[in-house]
Amino acid sequence: MQKPNLIIFGAPGSGKGTRSAVLAEILEIPQIATGDIFRSNIKNMTPLGVKVKSYMDKGELVPDETVVEMVSERLSHPDCKNGFILDGFPRTLSQAEALDKILKGLGKPISAVINLVISDEEIVRRVSGRLVCPTCQATYHKTMNPPKNPDICDKCATPLASRPDDAPETVLKRLEVFKSSTLPILKHYEAMGVVEMVPSEISSAGLKADMEALVKRLGFKAAK
Ligand code: AMP
Repeated sequence: MQKPNLIIFGAPGSGKGTRSAVLAEILEIPQIATGDIFRSNIKNMTPLGVKVKSYMDKGELVPDETVVEMVSERLSHPDCKNGFILDGFPRTLSQAEALDKILKGLGKPISAVINLVISDEEIVRRVSGRLVCPTCQATYHKTMNPPKNPDICDKCATPLASRPDDAPETVLKRLEVFKSSTLPILKHYEAMGVVEMVPSEISSAGLKADMEALVKRLGFKAAK
């Protein structure tokens, strides 16, 4: 049977992180979020963190070989044996092609690319209220998904912060990069017949129910 080897795809602020976290919980598979891995390396001042910080601060893409090497290593971990969710990767055609090779080597074909569809106005609205936990990477929104106590993470009680690259001018740059470098790779996956369009609004049933329905539609079963 095919495993849920998933890519979650969408513009910055389209809700990739929130949805991947819920899907990961439902399917009991790891969420591999390249942006989160970079942020945690920056926080811990590792050599990788030092290398990627200036790109991230400017809203530019980290060089392909750096990201590809990191993802390739991560996908070889045993926790990926029952599937995985790639969140924020691939972001260029060259990354998509490198991923094809890596997955071929591992015998893990992509089963679906979940394409989150959202308007530019909604992106700006969402990103401008986003809050992130610097410790556990949980994300919130000041009005749409507020933490129980203002500016404190529900999960680990760390004070929340805005992402430096969510500043309005950097968001516009990230959107431009998304449209020029990332959006075109959808064609690559359309040709493979694996793209699943998903509106990024949450239905009245709620996020968990929406993701459970998506799992079913993709032909997978919840782990519990
Ligand atoms: P994200 O958290 O996915 O919005 O990513 C934040 C930033 O991390 C991006 O704006 C890039 O600077 C960097 N980044 C994350 N994933 C990638 C990737 N696949 N390729 C290049 N840069 C990336």
